[in-house]
Order: sequence, then C-alpha cells, then structure tokens
Amino acid sequence: MLRELPFQTIGDIARHGLELHVYCSRCFATRRLDLEVNTALHGRAIATTRFRCRRCGTPGVPKIRPAELLPVGGPVTLAFLWCNSCIWEIDQAQLDKLPWSGSSQHYRCPGCRGRVAWHIHGPAWRPGRQHEQQQEERMLLDDNPVGRDQASRSEGLSLAASHMKL
Ligand SMILES: [Zn+2]
Ligand SMILES: [Zn+2]
Repeated sequence: MLRELPFQTIGDIARHGLELHVYCSRCFATRRLDLEVNTALHGRAIATTRFRCRRCGTPGVPKIRPAELLPVGGPVTLAFLWCNSCIWEIDQAQLDKLPWSGSSQHYRCPGCRGRVAWHIHGPAWRPGRQHEQQQEERMLLDDNPVGRDQASRSEGLSLAASHMKL
C-alpha cells in the first residue's frame, strides 16, 4: 500500500509554506516561481505540470523545497523524494512532521501512480530498504543542494509554466 502524497497541486505547496523552484539542467540554473503572484497555477497538479526554460527551451524540473535549506547531515532528518517517470522533486521534507505521515510507508506519485523514490539523510529515522541502495547511492552523487542553491540566486533566467499535460 502506498500513501497519498500530501502535495497534489501547486496550491498545496503554497498552503504548506514551501516554495516551488524549477531547475534547468542545461543552464544549470534554478528559478523560484512566485506562488503568491502565480495564483493561476494553484489548481494545477504538481506531477503533471510541465515547465520549460524560457532561455533554452529545455524542460525544467519542478522542485518543492523550504525557503531555507537546512544543513544536510545535521540533527534534523531530511528526505529527498522524486519520481523518475514524472520528473519532479521534493527536497528537505521532514517526514516525521506534518503534513507527512511519519511512517516508513512509501508514497504514491499523483502523476503516474507509481511509487515515489526517496533518499533519507539523517541519523534518527531511516526506513529505506536494501534494494533501494543502488538508487540511493546514485542520488547521493547527483544531489548537490549547495550548488543548486547557489544557482537559484543567479539572475537573468526566467522560466514559464507551459500547458498542463492531461
Ligand atoms: Zn535553460
Ligand atoms: Zn510519477
């Protein structure tokens, strides 16, 4: 059994006080989408809304994250969740706090209905299973929150939400 993800729409991100960033893998740049301004996007589904870099046209990766990133490896247990099929990410989720369930049960992607992958950083709580080890190691190499955070402050890049895939 998979749990429903507590974030289904872009409006849910705003409601939980988190931010939506879109990453362009070609420009290595991330831009925050202002959810207070872009209220028209609130009804859209997170997993199926497609973003495109306005500068190079590459599909962007939507990433839900807190405004302030905590140090990975610190006392707080942080999870990184993503769907390989729908291409979205949730960074620094604190799974032991609301709106997360606090259990070791995996979540269902609201887009493809498949299981959401996760990597959990932290000493306190580690429900990951052995057969995910390979994927976790790969994500460790790819995951560079410091670098991405710096990129998010770069200016001159704009991203626009393109039409929702139905
Ligand atoms: Zn780009
Ligand atoms: Zn999916």
